[in-house]
Amino acid sequence: MATEKRVMNCIMCPMGCELTVTLDGGKFVSVTGNTCPRGAKYAQDEVTAPKRMLTSTVRIKGGFLPLLPVVSKTVMPKGKVLEAARALRSVEVQAPVKAGDVVVADILGTGVDIIASRNMAAKN
Ligand code: SF4
Repeated sequence: MATEKRVMNCIMCPMGCELTVTLDGGKFVSVTGNTCPRGAKYAQDEVTAPKRMLTSTVRIKGGFLPLLPVVSKTVMPKGKVLEAARALRSVEVQAPVKAGDVVVADILGTGVDIIASRNMAAKN
């Protein structure tokens, strides 16, 4: 099998260590350049099952602003992020909303909830 090297920056903290991942036949073999174990885990996930946070907005009815910022509660499969963002376009919630309230549970069957990232009071 062909050996391949991929260079990437770790995004788990502001140090942004440059990681070099070795793959053999597309399978993870090793990583160098990480300063801590989180970087090794990130590199392995990134080449096998990459994940990302989703941040977006949804419409809110009766709120003092027209849009409510939302975020995924945890990272989700990178390949589902765009589809999830599209699904959020048809979501509308009712004010008031508290930061952390679940806006969409288990979006697209990923097991990840989309939650409000701020409070939004009802307009008077
Ligand atoms: S490897 Fe560790 S120290 Fe380096 S960027 Fe990643 S989390 Fe930060």
